[in-house]
Amino acid sequence: MISASKSTAASKLASAPVLIERYSEANVPTEYGTFRTVVYREHRGTGVSGGHTYEEHVAMVMGDVRGEDVLVRVHSECLTGEVMHSLKCDCREQLDRGMRAVAKEGRGVVMYLRQEGRGIGLGDKIRAYALQERGADTVDANRLLGLPDDARRYGVAAFMARDLGIESMQLLTNNPDKVRKLRAEGIAVHQRVPVYIEPNPHSVGYLLTKSRRMEHQLDIEGADENEGVIDAAVHDDRSAE
Ligand SMILES: [Zn+2]
Repeated sequence: MISASKSTAASKLASAPVLIERYSEANVPTEYGTFRTVVYREHRGTGVSGGHTYEEHVAMVMGDVRGEDVLVRVHSECLTGEVMHSLKCDCREQLDRGMRAVAKEGRGVVMYLRQEGRGIGLGDKIRAYALQERGADTVDANRLLGLPDDARRYGVAAFMARDLGIESMQLLTNNPDKVRKLRAEGIAVHQRVPVYIEPNPHSVGYLLTKSRRMEHQLDIEGADENEGVIDAAVHDDRSAE
């Protein structure tokens, strides 16, 4: 009963008291510009082997982000997309656009949260991919594995925002549910700024599933105009979100 013992361990970890702390920071030059790189530790109590466990999350900060209407990307880790350049999803492009948009604005934060595979972890993400090879879409594959469609949590993002002095944000995302979840954590999201990504033949099915089944607002046709769309949304009147 491997799956049963796994889920017991997971629920033990999930119920452990969580404490988040600002742990370290330094300036890091990137191809987009220099970001103040702030690491937060989310303590998760005792792990299955008895040792203390924690997750480390990162805020890439540019400019003075105290105050209102700070441009923010809240991004969740995707090892396959960002490191291996997998073509199955748009995570790397989303991260790239987020870093670029913040650098161009000269003020903002990219929050990088260590919740791989929409929160289910790398191993289970690849198990879901295996089911997708047999025809399931991304939502059905997770359900077949008994996993949630989206297990991401945003308490860490809320902590980072408060710690960095962000009073309200313009959020770079196509996902209205992320806006709702951040607001539920007490974050003032003034505006949703869309991030249009051009699909490739491998990612188009995934993007369409996100659009049809997970409420993501994707205008796939508009991908080429992305830079202009971000600029217009940031600098012009506020959208309905
Ligand atoms: Zn991805």
